[in-house]
Amino acid sequence: MEELADFLEKRGVVASYRAKQITDWIYKKRVASFDAMTDLPNELRTDLAAEFEAPKTEVVRVLGSKDATQKFLFRLRDQNLIESVLIPASPALYGQPSDRRTICVSSQVGCAYGCKFCASGLEGFSRNLDAAEMVQQLIAVEQNSGEKIDNVVFMGMGEPLANLKNLLRAIRIINAPWGLGIGARHITVSTSGLAPQIRELANEPTQFRLALSLHGATDEVRGQIMPVNRRYPLKVLLEACDYYVAKKRRMTFEYILIAGVNDTDEQAHELAKIARRLSAKINLIPYNTVEGLDWSRPPRARQEKFQSILRNHGVVATLRREKGHDIAAACGQLRLHTKRAERGSSVIDSDTAAKTAKGLIKNNAALFKRLS
Ligand code: SAH
Ligand code: SF4
Repeated sequence: MEELADFLEKRGVVASYRAKQITDWIYKKRVASFDAMTDLPNELRTDLAAEFEAPKTEVVRVLGSKDATQKFLFRLRDQNLIESVLIPASPALYGQPSDRRTICVSSQVGCAYGCKFCASGLEGFSRNLDAAEMVQQLIAVEQNSGEKIDNVVFMGMGEPLANLKNLLRAIRIINAPWGLGIGARHITVSTSGLAPQIRELANEPTQFRLALSLHGATDEVRGQIMPVNRRYPLKVLLEACDYYVAKKRRMTFEYILIAGVNDTDEQAHELAKIARRLSAKINLIPYNTVEGLDWSRPPRARQEKFQSILRNHGVVATLRREKGHDIAAACGQLRLHTKRAERGSSVIDSDTAAKTAKGLIKNNAALFKRLS
């Protein structure tokens, strides 16, 4: 808004009035061109069109899962592919019924952090998304699904804190009353644990939530699956978290349960210690299998045992009921399928993009067989 007002002022336009009109057109009425802003003077529309670009995020595919989680694959203006997931109201998110529609947003094309279990890291890192490309995921998903989104998690592809400047800009737009107007408490950023940026966030005024992907309660276990742990081992990371929690607010831990890797009783006891130190709540997430990777989720009984150990320590721990397994909803998977298919020149039916998610449910199994 301030940047827009600056731009207008330099042209001698009544900045505050026009800036509000323009942001209304973009974020409330959601037009995709300056020509459509019919109550602006022609000359201003031409000026705006010369200076700014309208977004060019194309929906390439929409997949719907049995529990109505929908996955969107977008092609950006430079042909890069990114994904968003729409998680509907009512099925239990984090183990509790939710009346919120949540979008899982990507912050980068690929990811440089190479966690061993994650599809996003498999093809390496291409580039940061700009703020518009993050905000546009919400707008495109709302348009395409007809749903109003009221909860945002930066848990798609990429490491949001490695793209901090653009992330904060996107969050400001998503949060602002003149933007998408989603309350800061309904915006969550997930990080693999970039300690310096966590400290930086402690001093950031916007009150969004922070989730830390822990996935291991000792350096030995965490280091096995998350290379970032070598750069910021638990001691360094947890000190940054202490600072964040003291300055700002509590954080949540994400803990994927991977069979035979981080699901032992010992890890649960260690995890409880860390959670108590930071008064953190824990979301346990059964691992979503990724094609080509050997990791798997523990049996339900083991998941529940792990949760009960945490609870016995007085820690709040939810076990996420899984969603989207059948549409490759684990971060980065759909893009990986599609990229591999395109490289292998197997044809992706162009009608696919136009079909509704509902129709696609039936085709999913066959489609993925073909793509892989
Ligand atoms: N880079 C950030 C945010 C994106 S990943 C981060 O790592 O936190 C969002 C979450 O999805 C992380 O907790 C990540 O560990 C988890 N995740 C990645 N691959 C997964 C998989 N196959 N199954 C379940 N969770 C997965
Ligand atoms: Fe990157 Fe997060 Fe995936 Fe790790 S889990 S590779 S940090 S997206």
